[in-house]
Amino acid sequence: MNNIDKAPLKKLLAVFAHPDDESFICGGTLAKYSSEGVDITLVSATRGEMGRRMGNPPYLNRESIAAAREMELRQACESLGIRQLLFLDIRDKTVEFTDEDSLTARIAALIHEVDPDVVLTFHEKLGGHPDHCAIGKATTAAFQRTAHQGALYFITFGDAMERPERYGYSRKDVIKIDVHAHLEAKLAAFRAHRCQTEIDEWVWLPDQEALARFGRYEYFLKWDREAPVLVLDDLF
Ligand SMILES: [Zn+2]
Repeated sequence: MNNIDKAPLKKLLAVFAHPDDESFICGGTLAKYSSEGVDITLVSATRGEMGRRMGNPPYLNRESIAAAREMELRQACESLGIRQLLFLDIRDKTVEFTDEDSLTARIAALIHEVDPDVVLTFHEKLGGHPDHCAIGKATTAAFQRTAHQGALYFITFGDAMERPERYGYSRKDVIKIDVHAHLEAKLAAFRAHRCQTEIDEWVWLPDQEALARFGRYEYFLKWDREAPVLVLDDLF
């Protein structure tokens, strides 16, 4: 038996709000870990059916958009190597109005079932959209409720966390992942979310030009600020 056979399977559970959160915010990191054999489960609270972008020129309507976005998300998951995809079937733009306790209980049950080493979600204040903040708050509460052994991190936008002091954090609260080798997968995932990205001309430029628009790093905030800092370039 070699070491690979003996190594326990590492697992990551990502709990986000909309189809495309996974690709647009941390697609490089998800592609990196799936390529290293990490088993990734993605939970999308909604199907993104209230999205303002309906294709360019528009070809979707409120009836057809949910199925289209689900299909696009499944394609993006393939690009990123995400093996399990679950929906909570909450209506888009209403996550903040769902019963917090039952939402927390549902996510806690998922944490029990998946038993992840790493949980990713939104920061409940820095999420940037009410659905993001609400799913982040419930996932954080679920993580605490289960007293789970793994680590919880918050996803963040672009390179904002190059200056964590602006948000009340310090450098040692930030995990910075080099995703340079996984930007092609990230671009493929952006393109999979076609109805959302068609209007962004840069996404459809020749690959090398489009890839040049991505940053080299993706940034994550530690939930447990007291946890000992071993490395700041890896979530596991
Ligand atoms: Zn979103």
